[in-house]
Amino acid sequence: MPLFRSLPGSNEGCRIVILAEAPAHAGEFEEGLQSGNRGEKEAMICRVARRVFGRFTARVIFVSFAILPHAVFGAERLQFNPGFNLFSPQMDVQVGKESSAQLDKQLPLLNDAEVLQYLDGLGKKLASCAPNNPSEYTWQYKVVNSTDINAFALPGGYIYVNRGAIEAAENEAQLAGVLAHESGHVVMRHGTHMASQAVLAQAPLAILGSILGQSGSITAQLAEMGIGLGLNSLMLKNSRSAEAEADEVGTYILYQAGYDPRALSQFFQIIEKKYPQRTLQFFSDHPNPENRIKDLDAEIGKLGPPRSAKTDSPEFEAIKRRLAGMPPPPKAQGMPTASASQPPPPPSEHMIRYDGKVLVLSYPDNWQVQQSEDGVALFPPGGMVTGPEGETAQAYGVALSRNRPVRENWGLVDATQELVDSMRQSNPQLHVLQQTGMNLQGRSAVSTLLQNVSPIEGQRETDHLVTIRQGDYLLALIFVAPEKAFESYTPTFDKILQSLETSN
Ligand SMILES: [Zn+2]
Repeated sequence: MPLFRSLPGSNEGCRIVILAEAPAHAGEFEEGLQSGNRGEKEAMICRVARRVFGRFTARVIFVSFAILPHAVFGAERLQFNPGFNLFSPQMDVQVGKESSAQLDKQLPLLNDAEVLQYLDGLGKKLASCAPNNPSEYTWQYKVVNSTDINAFALPGGYIYVNRGAIEAAENEAQLAGVLAHESGHVVMRHGTHMASQAVLAQAPLAILGSILGQSGSITAQLAEMGIGLGLNSLMLKNSRSAEAEADEVGTYILYQAGYDPRALSQFFQIIEKKYPQRTLQFFSDHPNPENRIKDLDAEIGKLGPPRSAKTDSPEFEAIKRRLAGMPPPPKAQGMPTASASQPPPPPSEHMIRYDGKVLVLSYPDNWQVQQSEDGVALFPPGGMVTGPEGETAQAYGVALSRNRPVRENWGLVDATQELVDSMRQSNPQLHVLQQTGMNLQGRSAVSTLLQNVSPIEGQRETDHLVTIRQGDYLLALIFVAPEKAFESYTPTFDKILQSLETSN
């Protein structure tokens, strides 16, 4: 599995990392640039990166791939090397701190001193066995009061574990497995690794410097570039390879800390079997369980000779009893359970005009239009269904709405992030799959692909949110269809989007 991502156009074997507080290497970096054997693109990235991150005393150096092989086996030591990263470890901590401050306001946290003390002790014991763990990292553990089985980590060592995950673990080693896996994300720096890739992909290099060069928080600067830190942001969406890597590191940590290294794969197996309905989110955040269990088992053989390992503790059992004695978590928004009716007829090829006060667009002539306080819904016959509490919910079509962002001076990206966060707050089932900038007839727009639970029972839904600024407002179009039908609606959704005309 490649740990290093090749930079576009880079020379074979050449990778960039930023090392904080490594002035000794600054000369090498300069030399590297001047020797002329690097691509112009790389040189520019480095120049920009150095300017951008210079105030964090980061230094960019070139590291030959040969010096840092992926994993060196032997003498019972596995080496794990984080991928390409424009951030320094200190910046990881700052990013984590800023985003955890945001998340703590959104999440229902369980503030029980005993549970937190136990988790802190266990977590820090595991972190002390983690590879690539510079002293800067702040290891902090929080419990989210939710029965969903999940856990996630922010850069710099901020780890959140759902109450449901603690309750589902059958012994301390399994909970340790979850914490060790999340610690793996931290020490492999997956959050800022992805942010680094997004920075390169989204910002034209020429303006990267001027954007990030401004003062202010790192998260605000990243948000300006469409790199969100909200609950469903890029930082928390790990790729499959990042998940596999966190599994490897987690297994290694378990072994080093004296726990049964099989505990992590045992936990996956248990939750998949026992709590299928509560693991949807876990496995969408942590994809591909079957292969992972197999890969994990293979990984264990590389760790070294089997040792007698700890599986449980009286402290863990006491914490489980304590949680069991607490009132159940606040109920998340109920799962909608509208019965599946006939799917709507296909959208008509013939489009007609919808003329609202602030926008004009075309839509299929067999669709209906419904105005409400919140906005306008356009949908096929049967596209509105009745939800579990008798409410009407849109299962197909497009919904238009216009809101004033909380802060007037917020740009498109911040305003979109706020909208997505508020959607997510009222619907915890909603997850961001992908977010990119796009050009809509010469205007900047943000395209956000979301996964949701359809109001049609037992189905998942895909939502495509497109946002643009319109004066003081944020104009939002949400294209909605059950996951299975979404692709067949895409051409119609595209036609609608392309027909959009707005006043400024
Ligand atoms: Zn993970």
